[in-house]
Amino acid sequence: MPEYDALIVGAGFAGLYALHKLRGLGFSCRVIEAGTGVGGTWFWNRYPGARCDVESFSYSYSFSEEIEQEWTWSHRYAMQPEILVYANFVADKLDLRRDISFGTRVTAAAYDEKRHNWRIATDAAGELRARYLVMATGCLSVPKVPDLPGLGNFRGEVIHTADWPREGCELAGKRVGIIGTGSSGVQAIPIIAREAGHLTVFQRTPNFSIPAWNGPLPEDQRKAMKGEYRNLRSKARNSYAGDYADEYYLTIMDMTAEQREAAFELRWREGGFNYQYAFRDMMDDPQANELAADFVRRKIRAIVSHPATAAALCPKDHPIGSKRLCVDTGYYETFNRPNVTLVDVKADPITGFTADQLTTRTHSYALDTLVLATGFDAMTGALTAFDIRGRAGRTLKDTWQDGAGAYLGIAVAGFPNLFVITGPGSPSVLANVILAIEQHVEWLSDLLLYARSHHITEIEADSTAQDDWMSDVRASADRTLYTHANSWYLGANVPGKPRVFMPYVNGFSIYEAMCKAIAADGYRGFHLLRQTEEAA
Ligand code: NAP
Repeated sequence: MPEYDALIVGAGFAGLYALHKLRGLGFSCRVIEAGTGVGGTWFWNRYPGARCDVESFSYSYSFSEEIEQEWTWSHRYAMQPEILVYANFVADKLDLRRDISFGTRVTAAAYDEKRHNWRIATDAAGELRARYLVMATGCLSVPKVPDLPGLGNFRGEVIHTADWPREGCELAGKRVGIIGTGSSGVQAIPIIAREAGHLTVFQRTPNFSIPAWNGPLPEDQRKAMKGEYRNLRSKARNSYAGDYADEYYLTIMDMTAEQREAAFELRWREGGFNYQYAFRDMMDDPQANELAADFVRRKIRAIVSHPATAAALCPKDHPIGSKRLCVDTGYYETFNRPNVTLVDVKADPITGFTADQLTTRTHSYALDTLVLATGFDAMTGALTAFDIRGRAGRTLKDTWQDGAGAYLGIAVAGFPNLFVITGPGSPSVLANVILAIEQHVEWLSDLLLYARSHHITEIEADSTAQDDWMSDVRASADRTLYTHANSWYLGANVPGKPRVFMPYVNGFSIYEAMCKAIAADGYRGFHLLRQTEEAA
């Protein structure tokens, strides 16, 4: 049975960097990847309009100046095909493919308490053993297909945005329905509307969306950004969100009404996430949040011509930012098109399907194709999709039955030598996830180097340290407005999933400082078993 130092699951941005980093330090590694290519989320999410809503110069690896300088981003926000080409460029440049098994799934993993390593079963590469199991499976990688009544009756095509066919999908002139108006739906809707004969948007909860104002980056700007990379990266590393945008320099409640209006207008015109991150009190003070939310609602009413449609598009049941903000290109404008209909399925719920219709309580809608932009079993889906068994054969799924947690969002008590890149308890999805990935991989590499030089064979999070960490994650979130929405951050989008706020809300730079302090303190909160103790 092949035996490695590290078995890495996933060849997205986390898996690619983990392979590069660990291999470079002399660890033998194998990556197992279900897809037939690299790129993770960008390999699967090929829906029309898919693109990143973090700016390209931020949403890219910072560990290699050579890659930074050789690669040129074409747009402020890169489209999915370009990001996928970038992932392939990196994989080729670093010669990563030779250590990746594509088209292969891990089907089970069990910790061998005697040998202090993992036995890993796969569907196409047999059984493997590894000292360390590194889950680089992504936070948003298991698509959620809702339990829609009678969906099996529908004879048209049903496509999830996160599992879009590689060969594309013919939508021209068709009657298309889309369920879901989160980030994926908000990106897909304007593009599908241009192609489809008619598009019916089935919306349960409207979301707040800020314009991206995306466009090609002029040559001089690209050059200037490339010259500035080190400053931009350092600014991002010292920020809340892991981004180089200026943050928290305004307090909504300290401004006059005129100043506020001008500030909201400016952030709207700049576009993207800075609408949230510019204001220090937006996620703490309900009154401040309501003012920011009201500005966006007024924008929606100004853009959307039909008052009833505009009213239906205005979010009312959650603070702005408590569900992840969407960043769009022409989303609200799309509802002025004559070939687009908005259906409020909270007011008029979906009751069933026939061969070619979706029916609600009061209407039926003829469809050729149904697009599901219905999200993911976020943060834990890929970690509980198969049996991962730790000490005494206990599964991770059982361990997390009352809520997921990991010390630093990286290590789980009872699962020695298992590490999660951007797991529950890490800043991951509230930060620029690429930077979060880099930080996790680098911190983990240091830990594994430490283990190697100190003859440590087993690394395990202490359960009290983990509980304290997760209590802090929850308490910190409870002090904000993040917990005032039924979001996927809480697992609220998956029926039966325990509601526990999973991301670390105190910001990337504070998180990194804590990780450094823990390492400097001899990896406080971890049990480190030395070979000599083992022999004794
Ligand atoms: P999402 O935010 O979870 O949105 C899912 C949508 O489907 C919601 O509107 C939800 O309505 C709706 N829905 C689910 N089940 C339904 C049902 N049974 N009936 C009617 N509606 C239903 O998922 P997502 O849009 O895929 O985005 C998830 C995350 O992925 C984002 O927040 C973001 O972090 C990431 N993402 C990022 C980008 C990017 O540009 N970087 C792009 C896409 C996604 P309710 O709100 O009522 O549940």
